[in-house]
Amino acid sequence: MTKVRFAPSPTGKLHVGNVRTAIFNYLFAKKAGGTFLLRIDDTDTERSTKAYEDGIREDLTWLGISWDETFKQSERFDLYEAAAARLRADGLLYPCYETGDELDRKRKLQMKNGRPPVYDRAALELTDAQKAALEAEGRRPHWRFKLSGNPVVWEDMVRGHVSIETTSLSDPILIREDGSYLYTLPSVVDDIDAKITHIIRGEDHTTNSGAQIEIFEALGSAAPIFGHQALLVGADGGKLSKRIGSLGISDIRDVEGYEPMAVISLLAKLGTSDPVDAFETVEGLLEGFDLGKLSRSPARFDPEDLKRINAKLLHAKPYAEVKDRLAAMGADGGEAFWNGVRSNLERLSDAKALAALVSGPVTPVIADEDAEFAATAAEMLPAGDLDGTSWGAWTTALKEATGRKGKGLFMPLRLALTGEAHGPEMAVMLPLIGRERAIARLKGETA
Ligand code: GLU
Repeated sequence: MTKVRFAPSPTGKLHVGNVRTAIFNYLFAKKAGGTFLLRIDDTDTERSTKAYEDGIREDLTWLGISWDETFKQSERFDLYEAAAARLRADGLLYPCYETGDELDRKRKLQMKNGRPPVYDRAALELTDAQKAALEAEGRRPHWRFKLSGNPVVWEDMVRGHVSIETTSLSDPILIREDGSYLYTLPSVVDDIDAKITHIIRGEDHTTNSGAQIEIFEALGSAAPIFGHQALLVGADGGKLSKRIGSLGISDIRDVEGYEPMAVISLLAKLGTSDPVDAFETVEGLLEGFDLGKLSRSPARFDPEDLKRINAKLLHAKPYAEVKDRLAAMGADGGEAFWNGVRSNLERLSDAKALAALVSGPVTPVIADEDAEFAATAAEMLPAGDLDGTSWGAWTTALKEATGRKGKGLFMPLRLALTGEAHGPEMAVMLPLIGRERAIARLKGETA
């Protein structure tokens, strides 16, 4: 039974980079008919907050990413203690007493001598008496996992064959000197306990995976299958800009006003061999989803793509789906309004300005030389209810009566009726504005 997890640390907001990991895990689980676990990695009690945790759940919910199971690491310290005890008993977790400064000095010296800055394992040589003396000095140990020194190899779902030379790595610190856990060990313990079958995460974790695979084995379990996707970069191939890179999903939702499926559509396809396109539902993305399609080089995140996909999704949205949101922003002009204006929208909030054009008050713009034309136009407005054919009939009649044509015919009407030079099709707008307001505006009245 396939089981994956998304394991954010509640030390910040979800942003495009980590939400992409959530999307991959979610699609992977769905496609396999498996289970998706949301694990909150909050062992760093100093930096983790409840507000960030709530934000993560809220953002995922908005995106439509639901989880089958969830738990937080802060409630599971007993399990981590037990695993640490097992590793200690097997001589695989050893105490080290170097301070940060001492480690720094060692690294600098190694580099000066042209050696890689790998921890020298001096602590393994300490006698019990030396350890006792250090503790008597007031030092507390941090604990390192003893790597095997062998290469760790695996077939990665994205990167293919991967080999990590553990001799080139420092033995990872699993427990800090204040007794708190780095995420390395708790993550493995939870992955074993939750029976995770596949770990899908960013490429920045690849080296980590080398060490973690050895920890899985030290704890008597086979490691899951890994997939490490390449990270996102900016549109120009450089680092994801600070603004976009740090753009939280909550900003994309609340400030930028994008649709959740625009975010999902883009992030699911970026960096794959498929074209980026707008998908209306997550289900629509399942068929083509395959981690094997991901390129091993970084994917370019361009906010312009998000805009384009968002617009495409809005243009196809039926009124029933947006009615409540339009009403909440005071822009519910009814189904005819929605059908008329949606193709002009980049974001749903753009509907606000268009609703205001319809209901007014709009201050008409009428140049002196167009005043007479506008007055004639008001008189010649077709009789009866205005509908989709009225604009055509009206402007044809006006053309014959006044000899105006093209821009000279249409622009003064648009300016008078909407106060703006650009906007949605006037054939759509005219019946929405209605006879009364149209006549008033053509006469130069604010209405
Ligand atoms: N909390 C870790 C992170 O956010 C989890 C990494 C992982 O194992 O997926 O980087």
